[in-house]
Amino acid sequence: MSRRIISDQQLGSLFAKYGGQCAYGGRNLTLSHYGQRLPTGWEVDHATPISAGGVDDGRNHRVTCWACNRLKGDWDADQWRYRLREYYGGTCPRWYNGEPVKKHP
Ligand SMILES: [Zn+2]
Repeated sequence: MSRRIISDQQLGSLFAKYGGQCAYGGRNLTLSHYGQRLPTGWEVDHATPISAGGVDDGRNHRVTCWACNRLKGDWDADQWRYRLREYYGGTCPRWYNGEPVKKHP
């Protein structure tokens, strides 16, 4: 389950702003798969986590594939981009047997 933090209209606008791609690794996503545990599923990430003082509005919202958002955890956007480059070849984590494959420590 995913907590819906913004309206459907805002979700659609945000999705369009990022060209329907994950803001971190560029995976092509499906608008209707919002909140779904799928390679084409996506969520709204907070680039700076709320727990680290990030705001909950459009300045801090990023379209993020399900895998990136789950594996990013409480890192901020720069920390996650570093790990994507170091461990994932700069692309979104791959999926295997219905799970995103974690490669970073
Ligand atoms: Zn991603």
